[in-house]
Amino acid sequence: MDSVITDPVTKAPFDVESVRRDFPVLKGKAHGKPLIYFDNAATSQKPQVVIDKLVDYYSNYNANIHRGVHYLSQKASNEFDVVRSIVQKFINASSEREIIFVKGTTEGINLVASTYGRKNVKAGDEVIVSAMEHHSNIVPWQMLCEEKGATLKVIPMNEKGEIIMEEYKKLLSDKTKFVSVVHTSNSLGTVNPVKEIIRLAHERNIPVMVDAAQGIVHSTIDVQKLDCDFLTFSGHKVFSPTGTGVLFGKTELLEAMPPYQGGGEMISSVKFEKTTYNEIPYKFEAGTPNIADVIGLGAGLNYFSGIDQAGAHAHEQALLKYASEKLSAIDGVRLIGTAKEKASVVSFVIDGLNALDVGMFLDTMGIAVRTGQHCTEPVMDQFCIPGTIRASFLFYNTFAEIDSLIEGVKKAIKLLKN
Ligand code: PLP
Repeated sequence: MDSVITDPVTKAPFDVESVRRDFPVLKGKAHGKPLIYFDNAATSQKPQVVIDKLVDYYSNYNANIHRGVHYLSQKASNEFDVVRSIVQKFINASSEREIIFVKGTTEGINLVASTYGRKNVKAGDEVIVSAMEHHSNIVPWQMLCEEKGATLKVIPMNEKGEIIMEEYKKLLSDKTKFVSVVHTSNSLGTVNPVKEIIRLAHERNIPVMVDAAQGIVHSTIDVQKLDCDFLTFSGHKVFSPTGTGVLFGKTELLEAMPPYQGGGEMISSVKFEKTTYNEIPYKFEAGTPNIADVIGLGAGLNYFSGIDQAGAHAHEQALLKYASEKLSAIDGVRLIGTAKEKASVVSFVIDGLNALDVGMFLDTMGIAVRTGQHCTEPVMDQFCIPGTIRASFLFYNTFAEIDSLIEGVKKAIKLLKN
């Protein structure tokens, strides 16, 4: 029976059963058991409106954009172009020109490292990241530093998985040319004080990039309030198709940056003697874009904007609290990542048990969790563990699903420990 669940912490009503109906996959089964999807930090599920949008594009107006004078191309171009303004409003950028479509967070970071970075980072300079970065916010900067003879500096974190701000302040110097930090950690759940991180860097005129791959779905992102110079996120983590993502950059920075890739669309004129580039954002969008999926991204962001955001957030926080309390009450379970500010991501280890074995056991119960390093090997190294079991929740998850997880963990301990 459908019911309105009352959040046990905030007492705010959030109609979980109603939002669950928007996601067809949640009605499904895994190994014959009702699916419990707790791998949201890897990718979110897609609502029917997004699926319908993709089907509509391919069924009714599949065409390349910006080049055709015919009806289908015009229709596809209009549907595509409007997404830029949906994204602009979603993150409160001051202009559509600051919105570049990329294939995901990874590409957003690589774009900035290889254009802004290559132009502005020189031998002897320093780039700062934090100890809790996803590999995609480490490796592109390492590659840049290696190429340029620069040094990558790392802001340490404490045993709770929180950035040590005093150490960050000490790292900032005249040598620092760029700071790139994660908004919300995918393996620990920590929500970082990015506004303060940006403010401190700006005191020294150092630009800051924010990896909002997780932050985009757990927090309200306002790039003007944050005053970040660059911010990137992936569509697939925010109810939209894979292969989509957004790079936000401040106009003056984007204008001064060299292009990323060469090809069609990013040029204004091509002569064998010299090519002139298109204006932003097109300068950074070479070739035929991911038309269908970007149109789907518009539908995904519109869907999310239509949800009761405060209610959704309160519900996720209540799920986090509930799961954290229940898990840590189990003998032998240790939470990894206990920051004060957390999104609904719970990472844990179980004494004497391999995370992968637990993940496979839970899978037999229809429960999808993620196990391993979560592309954050340095985080695992700091905690001296090979990996964690991670359950990450979105607003369509329920307390009953968490009860099943707890039951599953208890069973795993009983059966796998012998
Ligand atoms: N940064 C964080 C914090 C992430 O969680 C992820 C994906 O899990 C990424 C970056 C990379 O995102 P993508 O693989 O969509 O490019």
